[in-house]
Amino acid sequence: MTTSERDKNHFYTQVSHDSVDSRHQGAITMPVYQSSLFAFETHQKFDEAMKDVLAASVYSRGNNPTVMYLEEKIARLEGGESARCFASGMGAISAVIFALVGSGEHIVCVDQAYGPTRELLADLSARFGVEVTFLDGKDTEGFAAAIRPNTKLFYLESPTSGLFEMQDLPALASLAKAHGIITAIDNSWATPYFQKPLSMGIDLVMHSLTKYFSGHSDSLGGVVVGSRELIGLIGHRSYLNLGAAMAPQTASLITRGLRTLPLRLERHQSSAFKIASHLAAKPDVVRVNHPGLAGYPQKELAARQLSGYGGLFSFVTRHSVENMKQWATDLDYFRIGVSWGGYESLVTVGAAPAKDIEDGSALASVRMYIGIEDPDELIADIERNWAKLYEPSLRSQSL
Ligand SMILES: *Cc1c(COP(=O)(O)O)cnc(C)c1O
Repeated sequence: MTTSERDKNHFYTQVSHDSVDSRHQGAITMPVYQSSLFAFETHQKFDEAMKDVLAASVYSRGNNPTVMYLEEKIARLEGGESARCFASGMGAISAVIFALVGSGEHIVCVDQAYGPTRELLADLSARFGVEVTFLDGKDTEGFAAAIRPNTKLFYLESPTSGLFEMQDLPALASLAKAHGIITAIDNSWATPYFQKPLSMGIDLVMHSLTKYFSGHSDSLGGVVVGSRELIGLIGHRSYLNLGAAMAPQTASLITRGLRTLPLRLERHQSSAFKIASHLAAKPDVVRVNHPGLAGYPQKELAARQLSGYGGLFSFVTRHSVENMKQWATDLDYFRIGVSWGGYESLVTVGAAPAKDIEDGSALASVRMYIGIEDPDELIADIERNWAKLYEPSLRSQSL
């Protein structure tokens, strides 16, 4: 099921190579069509284009050549027929949900899904009469038990981006198919370089392009990939009318980022693995959540579904939140901030999961994103400041 070495090498060709497009004077990069509308020589041609404003360039909320170019490229990378780009990841996610589920219908969603996605679903449930069940994504049988006659969508995210828990994608895809339910997955963490959900039977793949695709922390974007039929439905029902279209300048930036996606991911993966392994060996680190580590509880599933791991992981520690926040503040090479997927290493600190606090095993949780810096310099930075956690004045604040 995982991507083969051959497929991974081909990915490099796919991101680099484009077929010759004679419309642009041989320009090797797609020009930025910085235009809101497109005019026609004759009214007859205009009438023809107006029959499908998603397929023809009439108005940039429906179709812009620079955006479409990126859409075609991402569709090929995911192995899908068609794709739509959006102004942000949440633009894509909300468009998928609005297009596929209406009032009185039911969604089953992974309880560790991206926070704003869960907030959106909770709001749809409270204010728009959409039924939502959140459940543990590890519990495949729980999904079967949650199915109702009005269930329309399984909303998945695997691995999740806080605890890095996985769902059994082929099993959930076939369960959903047997009940006429559509499956959609947030694949931002893995990217198509490390995980291809469509090949496992999933219907729709979404990404925050803000993260690895962009790769340079300079733009927001989202995408959904799937069959021509489903992407067409999303296009007409919510892409056009909710209006979260990607700007052409953004499409150009994200296309540029995409050219080096596999190169960057290899680097993030090897550095993050080295640093996660280093942290896992510490006596005061209780657990490192990283699907590539030996202690990962869903190791077998990870080996089946993922062909690599990227740069984002988390760990829980016995030190207090306050002390870990000071540790994070003192780091030289890690910036404190949300998001991830760029060149720069990032860190955020919060409370450990409730069960760890209750059973007295850990106090703080740390999410790390490993950029493209020298991993040994990052480890030295971590160590230099870790030593301060044991200064006598702080010691009493750890478990
Ligand atoms: C960032 C993120 C999103 C949302 O994407 P935006 O581009 O910020 O709207 C969705 N899912 C995951 C896993 C993310 O990390």
